[in-house]
Amino acid sequence: MPIREIRGFDEAKVRVGEGADANTRGRVCSPELQAETVFLLRVYTPIIYGPPGDCDPPEEICLRSRASAKSFDFLLAKDEISKQNNNSTMTRDLLSELGKRPMLCDGAMGTQLLIAGLGPGECGMLWNADAPAKVRDIHGAYRAGGCDLITSNTFGGASSVLARHGMEQRVGELNRAGAAIAREAAGEGGWVLGDVGPFGDFLEPLGDVTPAQLHAIFCEQMAALIAGGADAILVETMSDPAEVEVGVAAVRACGELPVVATYAFQKTGEGEYRTMMGTSVEEAVVRAVQAGAHVVGANCGTALTFPDYLELARQLVRAAGDTPVILQPNAGAPRLIDGNTVYLATPEEMAAIVRPLLDAGVRIVGGCCGTSPAHLAAMKPPLAQ
Ligand SMILES: [Zn+2]
Repeated sequence: MPIREIRGFDEAKVRVGEGADANTRGRVCSPELQAETVFLLRVYTPIIYGPPGDCDPPEEICLRSRASAKSFDFLLAKDEISKQNNNSTMTRDLLSELGKRPMLCDGAMGTQLLIAGLGPGECGMLWNADAPAKVRDIHGAYRAGGCDLITSNTFGGASSVLARHGMEQRVGELNRAGAAIAREAAGEGGWVLGDVGPFGDFLEPLGDVTPAQLHAIFCEQMAALIAGGADAILVETMSDPAEVEVGVAAVRACGELPVVATYAFQKTGEGEYRTMMGTSVEEAVVRAVQAGAHVVGANCGTALTFPDYLELARQLVRAAGDTPVILQPNAGAPRLIDGNTVYLATPEEMAAIVRPLLDAGVRIVGGCCGTSPAHLAAMKPPLAQ
């Protein structure tokens, strides 16, 4: 259901769902409102909900959710709904804009947070709440350098990852704040990618987590990113195509935002590019596209050189067919200096690979580990040529 259809939203009316609990029903009073409520249910209780017409009588919506009425306590405020309506225009434009011109995504966030004073081992996402101005400044530097797409500071924002810092109760707050900060920095002419990194464990059968559990984890994070103003969702640094499939499905359960899916590849002894899970470029890309990803590609990568990234780009484009490809290389292959992994490619060296990547068919270029606003600013002129 398109987000833009939520107009004339009346919080009080939707709140008729208040008091609903597991296996209860919330009455809605008009077809329009029913549509809106279904959207909200999809956002906030995304696993089990009754679609319109699934109930008897049909003007009621089944709330077959395990979520309690608490889920409704943080129904979107009116101004956020109208912000989302505005975003939906941009959301549509993102893909059509990409059809017209190649676009520049931003670069690393983690390194920039460390430079700004984040301590080693500290949770960078906390800054979305505690030091939003510092996060905004980093986004702003990328935007000033010409980046079209700004990635929210929410890479580790899944409850399963935040739990490592004892902050699994703050998924909604920290992701929503992260998206809102990025939205502010992106401004009118920019787009916000709501960033979703790996959930930090393995799906069955390697791990204990079921796809349904992961779906719930992702939905919780994505709903907050959308509420904060994300224009699209970026599911990134993936190794397992099954995790990508769950991630893309979770975005679709939340709304009609574009989904960008990227994998981290490494080069095998045989010279093939594979994810950490051993997935080939073709399988990784095809499964993401079949799941419904609107843009697909690679970021990061282990010890890849610029010629590797270029070859990887060719393989991604070949596998992706008509689906636009994104590539976000690190600042060259990492070097180990004094026990620290460092990326030493200069802005000029990064700028030099932009044209070859575009010629290979890549539509969005950005940066990953070791890149800075200076790198991305240097990459803009060859992209804009
Ligand atoms: Zn990286």
